[in-house]
Amino acid sequence: KLKNYVSTVLKETDMEVQSCDIILDLKEGSKDDVLVKNLYLSCDPYMRIRMSGQNISHSPPFKVGQVLEGFGVSKVVLSNNPCFKPGDYVSSWTMWEEYSVIAGGERLEVVDPSFAPLSYYLGALGMPGFTAYVGLFEILKPKGGETIFVSAASGAVGQMVGQLAREAGLFVVGSAGSKQKVDLLRNKLGYDAAFNYKEEDDLVSALRTHCPRGIDMYFENVGGKVLDAVLENMNSFGRIAVSGMISQYDTDKKDGVFNLYKIISRRITIQGFLQSDYVHLWPKFMELMTGYLNASKVVYFEDFAQGLDNAPNAFCRLMSGEKIGKQIITVAED
Ligand code: NDP
Repeated sequence: KLKNYVSTVLKETDMEVQSCDIILDLKEGSKDDVLVKNLYLSCDPYMRIRMSGQNISHSPPFKVGQVLEGFGVSKVVLSNNPCFKPGDYVSSWTMWEEYSVIAGGERLEVVDPSFAPLSYYLGALGMPGFTAYVGLFEILKPKGGETIFVSAASGAVGQMVGQLAREAGLFVVGSAGSKQKVDLLRNKLGYDAAFNYKEEDDLVSALRTHCPRGIDMYFENVGGKVLDAVLENMNSFGRIAVSGMISQYDTDKKDGVFNLYKIISRRITIQGFLQSDYVHLWPKFMELMTGYLNASKVVYFEDFAQGLDNAPNAFCRLMSGEKIGKQIITVAED
């Protein structure tokens, strides 16, 4: 549950885990409702914005005392819905609890546990993978040989952007917040160059070194001083797809962008996007991604926290960057 609204760096104590008695049943007459056992829950940065109490996200703020909600992978226990039967695995929009009743079976979709690990439906085959796909192909529209820079490059979205960009024949450069992550970018995720932005006093020259032909496309995940340095390195007619600006979500960490005026002289296009506006492309995305996974052309890194008791810690690790890859909470092992 959210304990209070948070305007500074999120702490575990801003959330609380509560036990309560539950009845594993569906109410009589609850047509189309489905009772699910939650197996995996997804930690996603936009949830942090919902914890601020301000109406600044595409989703409304959480209410104080509200059980957090988000993407999950669940198993159907009981169903009054003809589309789902007990034992089905589903990707879900669910509550951060062990069992949830999904009214009307809304936003449940049966997934295949034999094709990929179930948790992939929260990452490579889920919303983050789709965000990477939309931002890269629909917003940036890459041409072979161009240079793309990706921030938060080893994260849930970033690791997919990098690999899709590599497959599209781009020169791919990424930044991340630790040596271990930079090694991952270079050695496992196929980035051509990578650096630890926390260790660079001068981000402008770090980018100049790692992107010797300048930046044609920027997949923006963090905002703030990284964006500022990128603007200085953008090529004329460059494109920026703004997926997110996580440096601005824990509000006392705000830092300024001074180079915005460069968008004029460099004729840069900056476009924000929401993956949810592109749901019509989901089948194309799944076809591409399942093909790549089948052929082992892409890999996916995940970081699992065990049990709901560790959910507040897991969410804080997402924000601080302590986790590696996609942050997931394992609620139950099937
Ligand atoms: P990640 O898995 O990348 O986790 C977030 C990471 O951001 C952290 O682990 C940390 O890694 C990095 N970070 C945190 N604070 C800062 C900071 N001040 N400066 C630079 N980096 C920081 O998250 P996702 O891949 O799920 O999300 C990435 C971005 O995409 C977010 O901004 C999110 O809001 C956005 N998003 C947008 C969607 C859309 O439809 N537009 C959909 C999904 C996500 P590190 O160690 O590298 O610092």
